[in-house]
Amino acid sequence: MEILNGTQVAFNTKEAIRKDVEENLIKKGLPAPKLVVIMVGNNPASKVYVGGKVKACSQVGFTSEVFNLPEDAKEEELVSIIEQLNNDDSVNGILLQLPLPPQFDEQKMVNLICPEKDVDGLTKLNLGKLMSKDPTGLFGCTPSGIIKILQDYNVEIKGKDVVIVNRSLLVGKPLAMLFLNENATVTICHSKTKNMEEKLRQADIVVIAVGKKDFLKEDMVKEGAIVIDVGINRDEKTNKICGDVDFENVSKKASLITPVPGGVGPMTIAMLLRNTYIATINSYKNNK
Ligand code: NAP
Repeated sequence: MEILNGTQVAFNTKEAIRKDVEENLIKKGLPAPKLVVIMVGNNPASKVYVGGKVKACSQVGFTSEVFNLPEDAKEEELVSIIEQLNNDDSVNGILLQLPLPPQFDEQKMVNLICPEKDVDGLTKLNLGKLMSKDPTGLFGCTPSGIIKILQDYNVEIKGKDVVIVNRSLLVGKPLAMLFLNENATVTICHSKTKNMEEKLRQADIVVIAVGKKDFLKEDMVKEGAIVIDVGINRDEKTNKICGDVDFENVSKKASLITPVPGGVGPMTIAMLLRNTYIATINSYKNNK
């Protein structure tokens, strides 16, 4: 068994971005990419994620800004901030930290973001570009990070049977499309799937994003399977972060496996930076 070291691949990816920023922007007298994160309310997990994104921006030479709106913010306030950022040429990437408080329609708010600055790849236009394999789109950070880590470990995706347990717009649906675009055969499972364990046992690559500790057990994967754990949970006994996979036992059977922490999480942030860099470069191409 080999660990798919997301921390290392993310570090290498960030180093490459940092060099690209220096060579292609700073040395040419152009400003560094700027990412703006909008946060509504005080969700503690969101605060941690936003802090991680701001820190990552500084590591690669980007500038960043966080807009904080109160928990009881009104739709008009959020709409006005998004519109202001859409029209601000100094802003290259806009990220609306989810979840939003219940008074907001998340899909409606996300779709107000200008697609060229939609570094989470969640607007309808970018999702459509993913469906139609249009490389000018910005694609979801977690799904892109999963493909990137597999590619960096030279895993051949073509022809593989992939089973993804998740059908969210953030993870499962875009990831299925990315795998399909890489010529894998994809099955998506969810809470209403019949005989899920049977499907999992046939998979060459298993992706779990359920949000339940120890969801994937040893007897649910075949010998030599590649296991990607997207879940982020807190172990109540140890208070440590853990994934959805019973790592200790599943790792004995898997050929490659991502740990939590240190697997998909760092890759998600690295891909956010990459999307912001791409959005910045595209803005110069589009303005030519
Ligand atoms: P979500 O929208 O709640 O999706 C959970 C998925 O799991 C749903 O598709 C759900 O099925 C399925 N599910 C739940 N119980 C199941 C069961 N017993 N059997 C089969 N499927 C089941 O959550 P999400 O936003 O996609 O995130 C999922 C997990 O990934 C969370 O732990 C989240 O923290 C983590 N995450 C991590 C990263 C990262 O960077 N590492 C990024 C994003 C998310 P239904 O659709 O039928 O309800």
